[in-house]
Amino acid sequence: MRAAVMTAYEQPLTIETVPDPACPPDGVVVAVRATGVCRSDWHGWMGHDPSIALPHVPGHELCGVVAEVGSAVRGWEPGARVTVPFCCGCGICEPCRLGETQICERDFQPGFTAWGSFAEYVALPRADLNLVAVPDELGDVEAASLGCRFMTAWAALHVHGQVRAGEWVAVHGCGGVGLAAVMIATAAGARVIAVDIDPAKLERARALGAEHAVAEEPVAAIRELTGGGAHVSIDALGLPVTCTNSIRSLRRRGRHVQVGLLLGDARSVALPMARVIAHELRVFGVHGMAVRHYDGMLRAIASGALRPGELVAKTISLDEVGDELASMGRFAQEGVSVVAL
Ligand SMILES: [Zn+2]
Ligand SMILES: [Zn+2]
Repeated sequence: MRAAVMTAYEQPLTIETVPDPACPPDGVVVAVRATGVCRSDWHGWMGHDPSIALPHVPGHELCGVVAEVGSAVRGWEPGARVTVPFCCGCGICEPCRLGETQICERDFQPGFTAWGSFAEYVALPRADLNLVAVPDELGDVEAASLGCRFMTAWAALHVHGQVRAGEWVAVHGCGGVGLAAVMIATAAGARVIAVDIDPAKLERARALGAEHAVAEEPVAAIRELTGGGAHVSIDALGLPVTCTNSIRSLRRRGRHVQVGLLLGDARSVALPMARVIAHELRVFGVHGMAVRHYDGMLRAIASGALRPGELVAKTISLDEVGDELASMGRFAQEGVSVVAL
């Protein structure tokens, strides 16, 4: 098969012909039709991810068609169009047994712990647990764009934040996952306040349904606009300042969801815990989404209430994926890029 192979960190990926993946007995081989390019791929390419062993094939946001089925698989046949969450479960550990595959103790992450989907084929284990059928209403590129940022934003709002119609939702940081959160919260009937320092991103957020756009002094502005604070607030960027701003912009009993990854020196952030206690705030982390929550999200998309395709900025070929990855360190992304095979 053709694959985009990483043989050294920070060096261009090379398109090579490599052996087709072997099908695991409990898994499948998927013929990749589309695969998203994500900032976590860039981190892997930079050498920030210890789970990657070289040579390596990145890619974790995929949509494809089942090409081969392992002998122990019960629920899938060749020809099924599928996606998977970026964090697949083992099915055996305690979180998996509770249905929380996204925090599996022995997780399988295509494109990190094994070769991923920047290739014509990708092998995926534990197919009966991890595979998700893609409804006909979704195109391949659209389905690939769900697997990481979009489904994390859905989980932040619906699984953790428990957003309800009429509530105020503040979104701190309007990159890919932030804009997905704006779209999802708006579709849920919430009133959205978008926060970013970039006017172009705020413009996008408004177009996707944000009622207010705030560039400066977000805590004071949000408390003023909402008459006391947001019900749900999301740090979609992952900086100490956006994290604490998000918590401080909540009303009493409000829910903060940390979506943006806190990396390097930001791994330990000093939180305003006195306020968390006094106002009974709730603070959640989110690490993707369990397989069992896909259904609600896919129904919302199939009904037309959500349009993840609008967040896809461009479609590229497999030959262009190396340049796309390298450019992520130089430019802020204009939205999600997806490779079509
Ligand atoms: Zn597990
Ligand atoms: Zn991703």
